[in-house]
Amino acid sequence: MAAVTLKNVVKRFGVFEIVHGANIDVNDGEFIVFVGPSGCGKSTLLRMIAGLEDISGGEITIGGKLVNDIEPADRGIAMVFQSYALYPHMSVEQNLSFGLRMNGNPKADTERRVKRASEILRIAELMKRRPRQLSGGQRQRVAIGRAIVREPQVFLFDEPLSNLDAELRVQMRVEISRLHKELGVTMIYVTHDQTEAMTLADRIVVLNAGNIEQIGAPLDLYDDPANRFVAGFVGSPKMNFMAAKVVGNDGAVTLELTNHCGAKLRKPLSGAPPAVGAEVVLGVRPEHFFEAGEGDCDIAVKADVAEHLGSVSYVYANAGPEELIIEREASRQRANGDHMVVSIKAGRSLLFDKSGARIR
Ligand code: ATP
Repeated sequence: MAAVTLKNVVKRFGVFEIVHGANIDVNDGEFIVFVGPSGCGKSTLLRMIAGLEDISGGEITIGGKLVNDIEPADRGIAMVFQSYALYPHMSVEQNLSFGLRMNGNPKADTERRVKRASEILRIAELMKRRPRQLSGGQRQRVAIGRAIVREPQVFLFDEPLSNLDAELRVQMRVEISRLHKELGVTMIYVTHDQTEAMTLADRIVVLNAGNIEQIGAPLDLYDDPANRFVAGFVGSPKMNFMAAKVVGNDGAVTLELTNHCGAKLRKPLSGAPPAVGAEVVLGVRPEHFFEAGEGDCDIAVKADVAEHLGSVSYVYANAGPEELIIEREASRQRANGDHMVVSIKAGRSLLFDKSGARIR
C-alpha cells in the first residue's frame, strides 16, 4: 500500500499549460476519484502519476518516493484503461499471466497470482476463453485482473467503464468498490461521470480547465460545495440556479428573485453580506423545493414536462428564461404547461456571487 502526493504539478503541451499546479494528497488505501468535464486534464493527471506522461513542473511521490524520473514499470502501479487492451489471440489465462511471464517471474508465483485474481474477480470458469468469446463486462474484468496480478501498491483506472452499457456499469461499479475493500490498496480513478464519482470515492477531486476546484468526501461536496462549478457538477439532476438581486443586507441578506415576479427570500449569512444592488445567484437542488407555503418564499412556475422515475418524479418547469428541475413525490400527473407554486427555504439554498464564488 502507498500514499500518493502531487505537489505543484504542472503540465504543458508546447505553449499550452493544461494542468496549473495541482496539489493532491492521496492517503494510503484511499479511493480517490478525479472528476470533471471533458478536457479538464484528469486523464493527463493520471497518466503523469503512471509515468506515461512527463511532468513539466512539480513533484509526484508514491509511497514516499519521488517518482518524477522513474519508469512506469518501476513505480509500483498498475493501470486499467477504457479500451481493455487484451491480446486477442491469447486465452484469458495467458492474458493474465503474460506480463509476469515476460518479466521472468517464477512460474509457481505466476500461477498463484493468476489463480488469486481469477477468484477475486470470479472469472475462474473463463480462463480458457479468448477475449472475443467474452462479454464486455467479462473483458473489463480480465483487464482489471491483469492489474491485480501485478500486485501493485496503487491502482490507476482511466474511465474503465465507459464502454459498458448502463446496467453493466452499475454492476461493475459495485465490483470495483468490493475490490477496493478486499485489497485495501490505494486506488485513483478517473471519470467524467459524477454518479460514478459519488458512489465510488472516499474523496473526490473536482477538476475544471486544469484547476482543482475542490477536494472532499462526496457528501461534503454535495452539501457544501466551494463554488458554483462544484455545486453544478456534483448531483444528478443538477442544482438549479436562479438569478437574484440583493435588496437588503441588515444582518441577513434579502434577495429578490429576478425571474419570479419579485419574490423575496431572506437568508442569514455567516460572513459579510454583499452590497445592496449586487447581482447574485441562488442555488436550489431539485429535492429542495417544498409545497407552497411550507418554505420561506413561494414561487410560481410553468411545468412543461414531467419525468416519472417510479420512486420520484422530476418536473421540468420554467419561469421566464429560467429552467428549473423540481423533484416531486412520485405521481402519474402529466405536466402540460400547468402552473404550479413551490416554495424554497433559506437554509436549503446556496448563494453565489457573479463570479461563481460561494457567499456563506
Ligand atoms: P476526457 O474526459 O475528454 O478524456 P480529460 O479531462 O481526461 O478529458 P485530458 O485528456 O487530460 O482531458 O486533456 C486535457 C487537455 O490537454 C485537453 O485540452 C487536451 O486537448 C490536451 N491534450 C491532451 N493530450 C495532449 C497532447 N498529447 N498534446 C497536446 N494537447 C494534449
